[in-house]
Amino acid sequence: KGKGKKMAKAATKQVNQAAVLGAGIMGGGIAYQSAVTGTPTVMKDIAQPALDLGLTEAAKILGKGMQRGKVDAAKMAKTLNSIVPTLEYSAIKDADIVIEAVVENPKVKGIVLAETEQHVADDAIICSNTSTISINQLAASLQKPERFCGMHFFNPVHRMPLVEIIRGEKTSDETIAAVVAFTLKMGKTPIVVNDCPGFLVNRVLFPYFAGFSKLVLDGADFVAVDKVMEKDFGWPMGPAYLLDVVGMDTADHAAGVMAAGIPERLQKIDNDPVEALYKAQRLGQKNGKGFYNFG
Ligand code: NAD
Repeated sequence: KGKGKKMAKAATKQVNQAAVLGAGIMGGGIAYQSAVTGTPTVMKDIAQPALDLGLTEAAKILGKGMQRGKVDAAKMAKTLNSIVPTLEYSAIKDADIVIEAVVENPKVKGIVLAETEQHVADDAIICSNTSTISINQLAASLQKPERFCGMHFFNPVHRMPLVEIIRGEKTSDETIAAVVAFTLKMGKTPIVVNDCPGFLVNRVLFPYFAGFSKLVLDGADFVAVDKVMEKDFGWPMGPAYLLDVVGMDTADHAAGVMAAGIPERLQKIDNDPVEALYKAQRLGQKNGKGFYNFG
């Protein structure tokens, strides 16, 4: 038994270097969290401004930590130096794990995953931070789907403890063990779930958003609903504010995927205010206006 345990331990791949694809809200946050917990991390995007923004956001979080006395200048410099921004795939060649966090579009993700596999070692682990796309569907883009799984962080990454690790039909036990270990190294709480629409959290969250949208269509004032959920019910934020944090583009897309995937539980809502805001390009915090205006 002891020997078996030892062997299982030896088989768990250590992550000494990570790479994140996409330097947006999530990719930037994941790169920061990986770096601040001691793993040098390459951050790749296709646009220089996105890389600049990712680094600025990391510096902002560290700056707040310094103000609170939780981070010193040495830690700040070390963390920022261990995030390596790049526009080139060649920079991910030594990564033990690659976390894909590009736009929520199955075609783009499929291309990015296939390209990634051509630039990493045979035993590198590849994960997707997708909110809603099937892990089995994305796995079809890879030659070695056993090294692939979902690694779903929540926004804002540095504050949200949970990471959903999504096991595809072909994901190996070794891959899951390594991703669980890396999640713990990042200071996060892993749960392993099977591939299904919405995984666990969004499966619970989206019926709540749908209930909120229907209330608004019935004439409820979204500010009043938020106030009840925050101040009176005691949640950290109400549904309208949470949708602004998630982003109307992401939320609208996710609602569509969930409605198609579990129609017995969730239907698409006619005249959904979330869809209307998305069409009006009121995306939420990311572009300064959603349900609320952000200064
Ligand atoms: P975002 O729009 O802020 O960032 C996406 C980034 O990907 C952009 O910087 C873009 O330039 C980059 N990109 C596009 N194509 C690329 C490519 N081929 N190679 C490298 N970079 C590329 O989006 P986001 O909100 O950070 O979401 C990213 C992923 O995370 C999506 O799959 C989304 O569903 C998921 N997610 C989002 C949230 C959230 O609350 N926003 C939460 C959990 C998961």
